[in-house]
Amino acid sequence: MDASLIKLAAEHAGIPPTLELLRKTAHFIDVLLEANQSVNLTAITEPFAVATRHLQDCWTPARFIAEGASVIDVGTGAGFPGIPLFIARPDLNMTLLDAAAKRVRFLESVVRQLFAETLIPRVIHGRAEELGHDLCHREKYDVAIARAVTSLPVLAEYCLPFVKLEGLFIAMKGRDDETEEAKRAIGLLGGELEEIYRYELFEIDVPFTIIIIRKRTATLPRYPRRTAAIKRRPL
Ligand code: SAM
Repeated sequence: MDASLIKLAAEHAGIPPTLELLRKTAHFIDVLLEANQSVNLTAITEPFAVATRHLQDCWTPARFIAEGASVIDVGTGAGFPGIPLFIARPDLNMTLLDAAAKRVRFLESVVRQLFAETLIPRVIHGRAEELGHDLCHREKYDVAIARAVTSLPVLAEYCLPFVKLEGLFIAMKGRDDETEEAKRAIGLLGGELEEIYRYELFEIDVPFTIIIIRKRTATLPRYPRRTAAIKRRPL
């Protein structure tokens, strides 16, 4: 992918466009588009759309994440936002989680190709609502982040159990921030709405939203519930 478009995306997101960032990002996008020809990983393939919707968008939440934070990207798909974020912020201890085996296999291959020295990000195949009960992951992350996975009340039940006390759940959303319908869920899971950050992607006339939720109290052991209950009766 053309480095000038990657540079433009980084500048619009407030990320320094270092040579290393341009090189690693171009490598990742090339590997993604190549693999996408045989496995369905992303519908966004046109270079301009990749620069805005995949790169600028995924770099925008970096400003909310503290130096050296442990981060879990829940429902990462082909690695969004986790891989671009980690390329821009190699100080992060990044974990990528997804329920789809083919996407996890792709991500494992990306980590071997791009991050062979550290083997970070760590890639996990599993469902958030199951891993959220595993004591190696429950309340172990400074930040749980997710983009384009599900509605905010359901996403809160997937993500908040992973977050340490005083850590953050960062939900990346479109025009509608969904906080009104998720208020009850966020409170029940121990969270508190801290900030709604609105931004635009260059040359795209649609507002996007980042919702920042601070974990104030421990999540009760009964959450997350089983998949069917979460979907049938969102909190
Ligand atoms: N976050 C990526 C992005 O922004 O491009 C991927 C979005 S894709 C529409 C949603 C992804 O969430 C899928 O890869 C799916 O397998 C994953 N997913 C959905 N529910 C999940 C769950 N309960 N636990 C883990 N992954 C889940």
